[in-house]
Amino acid sequence: MTFDDLGLSEKLLKAIHESGYTEPTPIQAAAIPEALSGRDVLGIAQTGTGKTASFTLPMIERLAKGRARARMPRSLVLAPTRELAAQVAENFEKYGKYHKLSMALLIGGVSFGDQEAKLTRGVDVLVATPGRMLDHFERGKLLLTGIEVMVVDEADRMLDMGFIPDIERIFKLTPMTRQTLFFSATMPSEIQRITDTFLHKPARVEVSKPAETASTITQKIIRLSSKDERVKRMILRRLLDGENVKNGIIFCNRKSTVDIVAKSLQKHDYNARPLHGDLAQSFRTETLEKFRNNEVRFIIASDVAARGLDIPAVSHVFNYDVPIHADDYVHRIGRTGRAGLEGSATMLVLNKDMKAYKSILSTIGSEGIEEQDFSEEIKQAEEEAAARGAPRSRNQKSHNNDRHQSKNRDHHNKSNRNRNKPQEEKQAGSSAAENGGDPSNQEGQLSSPQKDRKPKQHERKSKNQSRSKQKTFDDEKPVVGMGDHVPAFMRKP
Ligand code: AMP
Repeated sequence: MTFDDLGLSEKLLKAIHESGYTEPTPIQAAAIPEALSGRDVLGIAQTGTGKTASFTLPMIERLAKGRARARMPRSLVLAPTRELAAQVAENFEKYGKYHKLSMALLIGGVSFGDQEAKLTRGVDVLVATPGRMLDHFERGKLLLTGIEVMVVDEADRMLDMGFIPDIERIFKLTPMTRQTLFFSATMPSEIQRITDTFLHKPARVEVSKPAETASTITQKIIRLSSKDERVKRMILRRLLDGENVKNGIIFCNRKSTVDIVAKSLQKHDYNARPLHGDLAQSFRTETLEKFRNNEVRFIIASDVAARGLDIPAVSHVFNYDVPIHADDYVHRIGRTGRAGLEGSATMLVLNKDMKAYKSILSTIGSEGIEEQDFSEEIKQAEEEAAARGAPRSRNQKSHNNDRHQSKNRDHHNKSNRNRNKPQEEKQAGSSAAENGGDPSNQEGQLSSPQKDRKPKQHERKSKNQSRSKQKTFDDEKPVVGMGDHVPAFMRKP
């Protein structure tokens, strides 16, 4: 099948052709004709399947006729994180280059004034995180009664982040006559309830089973018995030095670990940058752009910051920590082996991680993962660490920290499980979107220079403590790249 068979106009076909795409992906082939016919679509697909184009293309086609009115957007795309929203906006730019559609992106970290000015002029497409969109609505800057098409992207992620009550509220503010295109990687019962309530006889399009990993990914684990974090970091460096490693994402469970690993790699002259929810939005955007342009080779990331990001052609994923939830493993390794390319995912597994590892195996099946013999490298790393001396009291401290943090995480998980109380995420700022829609802000402590907020007095002590702790192992280097970069589509009037 080619794009010509989908019923798209010449202008769109030209833009698609210029993107370099020749064939629609399965989700595009199945969803685009249904969406063009005006039907609601329920798309069950993960990031990496080409799902973004499967809703942006038919939307552009539909919006080509008609004009935007002040404060009354004609279509709305809701995405769980700022990065995902920005990527959707970039897709509209790319495919809509021969159409005169106006767009506004409503995400946290960008001034209300600029966003309001756009809304007042009238927009065809509104791309937003739910919290920031409702903030605008409550300020009276926005009416949703003109919405013709509404998209909910990564609905299961919205559920994880406590956004479902916001989504329900937004659905109710839009006209019943709207067309709804709804995407989710998995269909938990709460999401099923939402689709049963708000979608009208949707065409169900499913491209891969939930929790199924791409067959192009080689998955390996390395077992470690040492609890010395230095050994873990040395092994990571050996992995990064591997022959075919072009670029990669290194996943950690906590933001504090992301910062430590990033600083350690920078100190060892790796071209690496951290990515998590406490970093300034400008820094996060810049990091992703540089990664896409091959100016940055490694990103060290937390789950929420990386979820849903469109980063093409990542050769390797490294799980520095075993994720607590098996579906995070699937999402993490889904960053590699995309669009038919070969990919590799390696995970470091300590004895304490066995429970989480077994849960991953029971989700994805054990056939796919093989244990890599790294005994020589581990022996060397342990000897090197021993030669440098015992890690003083750090292990004890980090152990205590771990306990403290896992307590926090448990608390966070509990509050997340309580789907009716998303307010907990909102208390820190006016909305979750102010945090980049990123509840990973509760992942743990942070000692990064790029934090948006000033530490409170009682926090400074522990921050200093963790700084001096870190100096024992990794001399701090200033982290580069704090700029005021704003992507092109956000600068346009
Ligand atoms: P998505 O699942 O929307 O995040 O898309 C995953 C990646 O596939 C993105 O880098 C897209 O640019 C790319 N992509 C989308 N459609 C196609 C296509 N028809 N052929 C090849 N790559 C595509």
